[in-house]
Amino acid sequence: MRRVYNFSAGPAMLPEEVLREASEEMLDYRGHGMSVMEMSHRSSMFREIIEQAERDLRELMDIPESYRVLFIQGGGHVQFAMAALNLMVHRKAEYIVSGQWAKKALSEAKRYGDARAVASSEDKCYSYIPDCSDLPIREDADYLYYCMNNTIYGTAFHSIPDGKGKILVSDISSCFLSEPLDVRPFGLLFGGVQKNVGPAGMAIAIIREDLIGKALPETPTMLDYKTYSESASLYNTPPCYNIYICGKVFQWLKKQGGLSAMREINVEKAKLLYDFLDQSRLFRNPVTKKDRSIMNVTFVTGDPELDEKFVKEAKAEGLENLKGHRTVGGMRASIYNAMPRAGVEKLIRFMRDFEERERRA
Ligand SMILES: *Cc1c(COP(=O)(O)O)cnc(C)c1O
Repeated sequence: MRRVYNFSAGPAMLPEEVLREASEEMLDYRGHGMSVMEMSHRSSMFREIIEQAERDLRELMDIPESYRVLFIQGGGHVQFAMAALNLMVHRKAEYIVSGQWAKKALSEAKRYGDARAVASSEDKCYSYIPDCSDLPIREDADYLYYCMNNTIYGTAFHSIPDGKGKILVSDISSCFLSEPLDVRPFGLLFGGVQKNVGPAGMAIAIIREDLIGKALPETPTMLDYKTYSESASLYNTPPCYNIYICGKVFQWLKKQGGLSAMREINVEKAKLLYDFLDQSRLFRNPVTKKDRSIMNVTFVTGDPELDEKFVKEAKAEGLENLKGHRTVGGMRASIYNAMPRAGVEKLIRFMRDFEERERRA
């Protein structure tokens, strides 16, 4: 068997322990004689799986009773539409555009109402988080939307922007469960799970109960949070196997010591890499220091040909998917929860060797 260090931004690495357990349960889930993939979503076996997953997520994030946890097919992009359709009650919303995902969410919202950017860092290729201390938020805006961790650029909000009392909505796809996050300031948090939680194709939404049931009249049934809330995410056949794997990741996170412990580990991994980059004479992190993400670390040599050579040689060493997003180039190491510290250390050793070789060449 061969396992590489996979630095992909998503779908991304899952904890080996989770994959092993799932493989052991593949043919016969706990004596039931079938895999979770073959199970009725109405069976008591599956109910136990989804209910346990929700309980564990609530415990990990300390989610209050007044919030609903919803498992929804379709990933991050579907949430761009759902956020707008469900919360843009007066058809007016404000967006902070700190990257391509927020920009896409904004253009989706524009289909349904008067949505606009109140801040943007597009002028410098999203290499920083725009100033959000005094945003021009309209009196009658329904919500303020932002993307907490900008997967493509390697930037992150390290504090909550001042929403001036409006409902806060945040896309947490690429920082989901990477550190403790108080949900109470938010009306809605959502994340596609394939970055840090599970297999692709599903999102988890955490929404304040009183915001459910106000969707725009044109909202399709399956895009209304109410549909999921009233049925405990079992209105139709949910992505059962995906929920099962997410549940296993929640259990794994609890075993690691929960989100405070994950934060410590993740900060340390990121620091190793940033410290190396800051002293390197070949590689450079193009992001404003205070806005650096601990999940996605971007770097460049300044020479696209050399970047390409680096990515290729790294792959041969079992360090895969280090190519930056196609819209920005360079390199990106996504170091989510499941990336072991040893993977980051191996990457740094390789970068040091590569730099040394280039210097001599
Ligand atoms: C990957 C990503 C998305 C898109 O997710 P899909 O599941 O591919 O639709 C949205 N937001 C963020 C922050 C992401 O990292």
